[in-house]
Amino acid sequence: MSIDLPICKCPKCGKVLNDATVAFGERLDAEPGDSWSICFYCGAIVLFDKQLNTLRLPTPAEWSDVESDPAFFGELQAQQRLVIQFRKAGKAN
Ligand SMILES: [Zn+2]
Repeated sequence: MSIDLPICKCPKCGKVLNDATVAFGERLDAEPGDSWSICFYCGAIVLFDKQLNTLRLPTPAEWSDVESDPAFFGELQAQQRLVIQFRKAGKAN
């Protein structure tokens, strides 16, 4: 599923993202709290804030937390690889 978002920019590449698709796991808006995501343009691993208003890069502590969960981190990395492969294949602008 995807949801509409306020217009926000990827903190890494600066592209405007105005919707989000949950590639795996729970609905993005199912619970309050920052949500991990992948930029569809550059493949950056990013976090939405609690209100889904802004995207930011994870802090070092958050990286440590996510890396301590190999199953979840592995899924994030797998999704990141898919985005990067998709972009390299020239399937989107
Ligand atoms: Zn990006």
